[in-house]
Amino acid sequence: MARPFPTLTSAWNRIFYPKARKGTYALAATLVMALLVGASALLNHQASRERRESNEWELRTHHVLDLTSRLKTATLLTTRYERTFLLTQDSSYLVPYRRARTEVYRVVSELAPLIEGQQQSGALSNIRGQLDGQIASMEKLISLTRRGRHEEVMAELGTGISRRSIDTILTELDEFERVERQQLAARAERSAVATRNSERLVDLLTAVSLILIAGGFISSLALRRALRSEAETREELRRMATTDELTGLANRREVLSGIDRMIAASHRHSRPLSIAILDIDRFKQVNDTHGHPAGDEVIRTISAMALTMMRKQDLVGRLGGEEFIIAMPDCDSRSAVLACERVREAVAALPIVLSHGATLKVTLSTGIAQLAHAEDRTRLIVRADEALYSAKNTGRDRVLLAA
Ligand code: GH3
Ligand code: MG
Ligand code: MG
Repeated sequence: MARPFPTLTSAWNRIFYPKARKGTYALAATLVMALLVGASALLNHQASRERRESNEWELRTHHVLDLTSRLKTATLLTTRYERTFLLTQDSSYLVPYRRARTEVYRVVSELAPLIEGQQQSGALSNIRGQLDGQIASMEKLISLTRRGRHEEVMAELGTGISRRSIDTILTELDEFERVERQQLAARAERSAVATRNSERLVDLLTAVSLILIAGGFISSLALRRALRSEAETREELRRMATTDELTGLANRREVLSGIDRMIAASHRHSRPLSIAILDIDRFKQVNDTHGHPAGDEVIRTISAMALTMMRKQDLVGRLGGEEFIIAMPDCDSRSAVLACERVREAVAALPIVLSHGATLKVTLSTGIAQLAHAEDRTRLIVRADEALYSAKNTGRDRVLLAA
């Protein structure tokens, strides 16, 4: 069963639509990839900045905690040596006392530029104020001791104010450290979240890439299929334009343009070319007796016979109705007559069995003309046609050569 001929619209859609869809897919896929790559680059940049800042902050926090620890020790040492001096009145304790005091101020001045944020800056200046007060009070007691005013010193110590002040300073330093650690943890968490988000986007990017690659693969398969079907459609259209539907022979237009090419080649190379026009005799009777479909079967049978009996280079076509034309390149009129005689004899001898069971015989009349010098196609066909007319008029079932 032959494939149905495509309509012009369906042929158009089959040829062009898949390509348009493929183009849209490629554009959309590129845009999606570009968007994801852009977002991923941005997130990755942010994540690495967060990580860098978090690392710097960690170093700074360790430095701050180291300084606060030194500050606690120095504060405790000032008190210890001050108390020892007050009890022993041995001035040699004032040396480590002063060293510890210098350390307190050094550490505080080192801490100040490292501290960021209002809360911690406020806390540090508060601690600094308390330390100032504490050291001023120690200096006063040392001075009183040196001047021998021990009762006043004992009375002052008895109030316990100094002890409580030290406790307050240490407690505030503890709180200061706690806030520092808390800030470090918050930064580390932010950095971890940024890294996680960046990693998630990279995962998404990988998944989307795989999906797009799969989509591209599928769409390229579809495109290949579409191209194959496009080629088939073109072939169908070409066949439709050049082939006679009933017999599968070259149709009138195709056979005539083939003859034009052969005539040009024949003139160019001075090679002989003959044509034959074959007409089934009394074909109207076949139709009248057996019906039009039976007539079609006869036409198909005769055309198949003519085609198989001619050479490969010969062009066999249907001129229309029950009339055929054969172009024989490199063939003079004598050889053409012999070839057509063979066809005539074979047709006349062959009983055609129709599909509904009846058998019949038909004959062919043929007119032959060999291309003359500088002759064109119209003139050549007219001469062959005239020979055919003579064959008909002189009894049919014969091959006649044009004058
Ligand atoms: P002659 O020997 O003089 O050629 O007589 P003829 O009957 O063959 O010629 P005529 O031109 O009188 O009749 C040709 C007939 O062929 C007429 C037409 O109905 C028939 N015919 C033309 N094309 C087809 C076709 O495709 N199929 C069938 N079945 N018949 C066709
Ligand atoms: Mg005819
Ligand atoms: Mg006829």
